[in-house]
Amino acid sequence: MGSRDSEMEGQENILQEIFDNFLRGSTVFKRREALRHDYVPDSLPHREDHIRHLAEILAPALRGSLCSNVLIYGKTGTGKTAVTRFVSKKLAERAEVLGSSLKICFVNCRIAGTQYRVLSALCSEIGLRVPFTGLAVGEVFDRFKQALDSRQVLLIAVLDEIDTIVRNRGDALLYELTRANANLQNGKLSILGISNDLRFKELLDPRVMSTLSEEELVFGPYNADELQNILEARARIAFEDNVLKQGAVKLCAALAAAEHGDARRALDLLRVAGELAERNGDKHVSEDHVRRAEKRIEHNRVAETIKTLPTHSKIVLLSVYLLNRSNINRSATGDIYNLYSELCAELGFGSLTQRRVSGLINELDVIGLLNSRVTSLGRYGRTKKTSLAVPHKIVRDGFLEDDRFRGMVDYTPRYLSSSL
Ligand code: ADP
Ligand code: MG
Repeated sequence: MGSRDSEMEGQENILQEIFDNFLRGSTVFKRREALRHDYVPDSLPHREDHIRHLAEILAPALRGSLCSNVLIYGKTGTGKTAVTRFVSKKLAERAEVLGSSLKICFVNCRIAGTQYRVLSALCSEIGLRVPFTGLAVGEVFDRFKQALDSRQVLLIAVLDEIDTIVRNRGDALLYELTRANANLQNGKLSILGISNDLRFKELLDPRVMSTLSEEELVFGPYNADELQNILEARARIAFEDNVLKQGAVKLCAALAAAEHGDARRALDLLRVAGELAERNGDKHVSEDHVRRAEKRIEHNRVAETIKTLPTHSKIVLLSVYLLNRSNINRSATGDIYNLYSELCAELGFGSLTQRRVSGLINELDVIGLLNSRVTSLGRYGRTKKTSLAVPHKIVRDGFLEDDRFRGMVDYTPRYLSSSL
């Protein structure tokens, strides 16, 4: 074999190795997708009761009987979607074996966005095609009912994150859906609504409410031990053996339990910790990676929130940021307002009244970007002092990512230099 041949062979080996490495993929993750939000595991620890209860409610559908409407609620990450998907999948499998006319349609209302699109998703599940736009919702609804009847379908409509659509578009669609059975002879419709908002019921017309919540299931938060079990089961699927330190899982569970028992948050922490370790070429995922993951996630959350703020709220936040940068840790509303007005002029916006700005400060307090505290000044009355509720650096990075505000993060307020 000539030297040229062996050289080629050498290069071939290098390429093989690159491809092998790529195909073999990560040394940290075995199946990273097992940490994704939409992954439905084969078993859902600590939700056995909910699974059983939901299955009992829906089981009559297997015999072609109408089952009760169900309203499921609980905070994010408490397993509502996972449990519902799990039970509906098993139910659909059994229906298939039985050759039943049961259909289950799962629609995420937040992603669908409009009543029209929710309805057209239901239509397409029963084989009815409707145009993307152009028809009135009422017309689509009539066709939907006709199709249910003529095809003799028993449909369970799972409407996930139903609160978003009611909050934005009202409950007209739900009203129609909950009364559909009255006009059906051969078809049947059951509704399973899922809400992340515990006060969802207050948004509904009482008539809709009473029909929708024939059965109710409440999902409470997980505690740290439960989260740890959930994470361990997922980690066995997601990570290579012996990569994940026990302490790392424990910390993810503890951090998420301290929030509101949110399994989604716990899984995010674990995934990001793994990604940080991988990027760093580390062989183990440790508590240190989890702590860094926490910062990273918080950072992204704040940056995302800042990005979506209305302009005047951004300017208010920028004012508090700049005051904070000038070593004024807690600012009175009047000072914030003065700087806000200056910034508005600088950026070419008209300024709102101090009353409105005070309202914006409250809103920023509610979403966790600012921290306002009312202090008493004795006989001089009370004053509200406001500071940043998140690290200075994160706010700065958030503004740096914003084209319009990037140039303002190092702004020197005239208002301050004149008063100092
Ligand atoms: P919700 O719909 O209540 O916001 P999800 O059902 O989407 O919450 O759950 C969030 C994440 O946590 C999903 O990835 C889900 O698979 C996982 N999860 C929630 N509860 C459990 C559980 N009991 N066992 C295993 N994984 C769970
Ligand atoms: Mg959900």
